This record gives sequence, structure tokens and C-alpha cells, in this order.
Amino acid sequence: MILPVEYSECRQRFIDAALTARLTTYVLPSEAGASGETLSMDTAYIGPDAPKRLLITLSAVHGVEGPAGSGIQSQWLRDHADGKIDLTPDTGVLHIHAANPWGFSHRARTNENNVDLNRNFRDLADVEHLNRDFDEIYDILHPQSPESDVIKQHLAALDAKSDEWGLDRVMNTMSAGQYRHQGALDFGGSEEQWSVTHIKKAVEPYLKTAIDVAIIDFHTGYGDYGETVFLCFNEPSGPAWRRAEEWFGYDTINAKAINPGGEEKTFKRPDYSGVIAAGLHDMTQALERSVTCVVEFGTYPISEYMGDVLRENWAYRGGVRDQREDIVEAFARQFAPLDEAWGQSVLAHGRRILDQAIVGLGKIS
Ligand SMILES: [Zn+2]
Repeated sequence: MILPVEYSECRQRFIDAALTARLTTYVLPSEAGASGETLSMDTAYIGPDAPKRLLITLSAVHGVEGPAGSGIQSQWLRDHADGKIDLTPDTGVLHIHAANPWGFSHRARTNENNVDLNRNFRDLADVEHLNRDFDEIYDILHPQSPESDVIKQHLAALDAKSDEWGLDRVMNTMSAGQYRHQGALDFGGSEEQWSVTHIKKAVEPYLKTAIDVAIIDFHTGYGDYGETVFLCFNEPSGPAWRRAEEWFGYDTINAKAINPGGEEKTFKRPDYSGVIAAGLHDMTQALERSVTCVVEFGTYPISEYMGDVLRENWAYRGGVRDQREDIVEAFARQFAPLDEAWGQSVLAHGRRILDQAIVGLGKIS
């Protein structure tokens, strides 16, 4: 496979590609991988000890979505080793591989505590009141059985709620983050997770000197098949937003709504809470000089994969996730298709995006 999907194979490729990089391994304590393997977040850094310009990439914040970002990072490292990439002497590049190693290996979007890490990077002292709407659709999102007719009823109820509330409000409720239901979907956690702590550790030495920064976090699940959707986390129309437009294109950055792909209706971008890229942005020295984007690669329409999302969470809540290979595998393929053409498209886009960021960083005087 051009994009292998197994965590251990992806990790090995990353390490093999990182020959010319400074490699750091953070072992996740107390958890093993699906095949008993050690789990770790690994970082590969290339550049001076005190970079002025810095590109940070992340893969597998949503574990199961990891193959795309992992493949892009490994490709970049190989390109660099082959002498195909020009960096100014003051530019550093830090790739953070498998930010959520448990989810990558066990084919989950969440981590070992059912926390969505991309809702966890924030002050968690006073979050329980957030997203009260979630309680109102809790029953719709959490079926008591994985049977097809039951799932269909729940999806129909979700459609009916969209008619009543509007799609924007339903999508916001489902995805903004919630902090009251531990076993449920979209749970942001009650304390900072290991991954967030170690991502902060990994970036801190480089952010001490870096002034101009680009943060790119790779995900999958929104957009047309194999194509990109950018979610820019800078102040809209501020200096960093303008910089992102220059690098990646005006239309790419200024989409008014999220196009989830296929014939699906677009919806207003949810008011995400605790996003990792946004948290990293806030750690940078000059906020108006830090371009911060989540890049999504489209797989299938939400209406096609929502049933698998409900089933996978049902299996988690019921404590039968390990026994339901059928459910977990169907879920995983929605976010990491086993399709060479999809993988080729992801890698081609990924190479271009990182090139645009590096060229953009290099041009800043
Ligand atoms: Zn994601």
C-alpha cells in the first residue's frame, strides 16, 4: 500500500525516513497497541537548534485518521533526505508523528480514555456548561444496539433534528466538543491528556526562538474524495489569515462553510473547543505571524459514515470494542480508505501543501 494503515508499519516508515532528522520518542505508558506493540508519539526535527522560521506538522490527532498525515510526513522526510527540499538556514521543520498512538493502533478517533484530543487543548476548569445542546440529542447519537434498523432510525431522527434546528446547529452540537458525558461522542476530557502534554513538550524548545511559524494538522473525513478542505484557525482576515491566503490560495482559506464532500449540504464551521492546532498557535510568540491550519482529506460523505460512527461508539460504551472487529474495521475504512488512488492524491496534495508553507516561510523578510 502506498499509505499503509497499520500504526506499526506507518511508524517504521517514519523512522526509516527520518535518517537525517533528530528523532525523539515519547512512549505512552500503561497502554499497548492492538498487536501488543509499544505505542509512542515520535517527532522528527530538521533544522538549526534555534530556528527563526518553523513548520510544525501533526498526524493522527484522531488516531484512525493517521495514515494520510503519516504518509505525508514520511514522504517529506524522504524528499529531504534525497536533497529535494530547500530550507533557508534559519528554518526548522518539526513533524509530530502519531499524536494519538493508541487511537492509531486501535483504529479509534479518540484516545484510550475516549477523549477527542482535538477538544482537549484548553483550560478544562470550567467547561461542563459548554454545549448544552448535546444533552438534547444525546439519545439520538447513542443507540442501544448496532443493528441496521436501529441505526437507520437514529440517523432518521438526526435528519429530523436537522429539519427542526437547521443543519448548522446540529453539526455544531455534534462536533464543537462536550465535557459532561465520558463515554459519549465528541468528549473533550476532564483533564489534560498525555498527548497534549507531550505535544507541548515537543514544540517548546523550537518555539523559544521561532517568530514565523506554520502549523499544519492533517485529518480525514471532510471534503470530496481525496481532496482537501482547509480550516484556518487564525483571526479571520488578520495578518496571519492573509499570509495563509498568499501561501495556499484565497479560495482555499476563505470557504464560507464546510463542504463535507459529495452531494452533502455544506454547514457553518462548528465553534470547536480545545483544538490542538489552535492551542499550539496560542503558544507561539507572535500570533499574527503564525499560520495555523487543519487540513482535511475527504473520504466519504458523512451520511455514509455516520452509522459506522454510531456503531463504533456503541461498541466502546458496551465494552465489546475488542470483540467487534467487523464494527471497528468498517469504521476505520471510512477514515482511511484502502485505495491506491486515494493515497496518491493525499500524498500529492500533502507534498504541495508543505512546499507552499516552506516557500511561504522562506519568503518572509
Ligand atoms: Zn480528524
